[in-house]
Amino acid sequence: MHNNYVGRFAPSPSGQLHFGSLVTAVASYLDAKSHNGKWLLRMEDIDEPRCIAGVDKDILTTLEAHGLYWDGDVIYQSQQHPRYQAILNDLLAQKRAYFCTCTRKQIKAMGGIYNGNCRGKSVCSATQDCALRLKVDMPLEAFEDVLMGKVTPSSSSASLNAEDVVLKRRDGLFSYNLVVILDDVFQQVNCVIRGCDLIDVTPLQRAVYKTLGYTAPQYGHVPVAAVAPGRKLSKQNRAAPVNSDTALDNIVRVMNFLGFPFPSTSEFDDIDSALKTAISMWDRKKVVKTPEIIVPQHESTYHSRPL
Ligand code: GLU
Ligand code: ZN
Repeated sequence: MHNNYVGRFAPSPSGQLHFGSLVTAVASYLDAKSHNGKWLLRMEDIDEPRCIAGVDKDILTTLEAHGLYWDGDVIYQSQQHPRYQAILNDLLAQKRAYFCTCTRKQIKAMGGIYNGNCRGKSVCSATQDCALRLKVDMPLEAFEDVLMGKVTPSSSSASLNAEDVVLKRRDGLFSYNLVVILDDVFQQVNCVIRGCDLIDVTPLQRAVYKTLGYTAPQYGHVPVAAVAPGRKLSKQNRAAPVNSDTALDNIVRVMNFLGFPFPSTSEFDDIDSALKTAISMWDRKKVVKTPEIIVPQHESTYHSRPL
């Protein structure tokens, strides 16, 4: 294993942490700490219109209440725009990126996978409203997930060839698929532990790493907590925010969710001793290999908590 392990947790401050996001936080923390690694924290506030003021601080307070202390300074994507733009400018200058005017409707008519229609067409300039895409000439490949085992590109990632991904959207926002990669490279992250909701996009992200000339990190995906099949806990279905008053109990429930027979809450004096036990118990092979787990009703009912 890496002797210079760098992992991270990368929440979007569009809603308070819920049980599912706590699972990802704890799993990425335990994987990092059991490898004597660093655990970084990045606020993925790239989609600013969807972010809620104060939620970032609330997430940090919640993590601290659970004993999950990150290494180094928190990075905010909203403060990284000049770095992203400089990279896009280089790609444009090298003709490795191009503008695209295709609408959602047109892409649907292509079968849902962008077919490179605007490559080499010079359809518009930076000042007009059009998307910027990366030329990707690479097949989607299977990869070895450190938790889930071998993952083959699924039919939902459709074609065998990776599509020319959007780097910057028509509305001027940098795309998630771009910035997640640029930041993991920038922060030297070499192991990404995150939710199974992102497993399907991983082959595409790996193709982008290669295209940009970077080495992709290792990936491990943990089960997603859902209220019903196909409906993961989220702000949209009014998932309850994590209650820090029951932090110790929450850690125990996260460990049980991930498949570890864990001592009950009363066995521990405090959070730190529970986390220490969790670190020593952590074993990638023992993490449940189901992409989705339905959680009890009380996890999924909304109890608002002031920010
Ligand atoms: N910001 C993403 C989310 O909250 C996570 C991205 C990632 O872990 O790669 O869903
Ligand atoms: Zn196009």
